[in-house]
Amino acid sequence: NYVLVKIETDEPELYGWGDATLNGRELAVAAALEHHIIPLLIGRDPDQIEDIWQFLFRGTYWRGGPVLMTALAGIDLALWDIKGKRAGLPVYSLLGGKTREGALAYAHCSGSDFEEVADEARARMEQGFKVIRAQVAIPGTIGTYGTRDVHHMRSDPGWGDGGPLPGVEQWEPAPYLRTIPRLFEHLRGALGDEIELLHDVHERLNPIQAAQLARALEPYRLFFLEDPLRPEHKESFRVIRQHSTIPLAMGELFHTRWEALPLISEQLIDFIRCDIGHIGGITEARKIAALAETFNVQTAWHGPPDIAPITHAANVHLDMAIPNFGVQELTFFPEVTETVISGGPAFRDGRLFVSDTP
Ligand code: MG
Repeated sequence: NYVLVKIETDEPELYGWGDATLNGRELAVAAALEHHIIPLLIGRDPDQIEDIWQFLFRGTYWRGGPVLMTALAGIDLALWDIKGKRAGLPVYSLLGGKTREGALAYAHCSGSDFEEVADEARARMEQGFKVIRAQVAIPGTIGTYGTRDVHHMRSDPGWGDGGPLPGVEQWEPAPYLRTIPRLFEHLRGALGDEIELLHDVHERLNPIQAAQLARALEPYRLFFLEDPLRPEHKESFRVIRQHSTIPLAMGELFHTRWEALPLISEQLIDFIRCDIGHIGGITEARKIAALAETFNVQTAWHGPPDIAPITHAANVHLDMAIPNFGVQELTFFPEVTETVISGGPAFRDGRLFVSDTP
């Protein structure tokens, strides 16, 4: 369920749209906006994005966490939309202007066996993709993350007003650790060396298992290994670094720049992949990008199907402007979504593009 924010101004026809969608907690964000945040905005100057951001973040005392930082992102994106319309410029121009023509994008491929994953990857390569994320169902388990096997998970779709309960997986690290290196051996053989490949662990390993997987995957030259560890255990990234030179990506479960900071400043990751929609919007993300630039870390903003095309557009506007852009995760939305929310990024020849209009 999308939570969309529309901010109107006292200038006729001048308004902005933001995305405050938080999958599975959308009612909490909507309530935070309606009861606690929107009343604070009435009468303020929409030009003062930084001041409004700080007022909502620090001035209200309670700060951080997914609900409040998603609500703040919704406001922030709407304010940048207003600023762009007022200036007559696309947001990337307000952020310093283009540093590139298009943002290198990656798509998801998955399957119930290796050949199914390879077939899907070939279809994506045909579409123009240069980077592909690959996941496969793990034999002997139920509901492998990132694969169609997810439909076999147990869940209760009738639960409450907040939607279905999260699916329940059967997770076994040993078969996972055996299967994933074999998947990438198969994909390198089937797809060749040119295509960039990456894999999302989705925070399911302990430190030494993550180090073992990183070492086992080294021969297949991954673009990055995503979310090998839980977001709470930043110190554990040192264990992986001690054992492997595989590039690491992390960050979609962080909610402030201070959570990202130790991984960046100690160069424990190579790609920071915060979710612009869950970290307070463009205002916070551009600061994280600047911190990352200082330590030679690139960006790979989260781009899942459970945020609206508005946040995907914000991702690509930032990608276009920052010097240390790495890669952009992409979602193809169903036609019905694009009918309601038009103007999202467009995919062409492996890259994402945003409109040159405000
Ligand atoms: Mg992920």
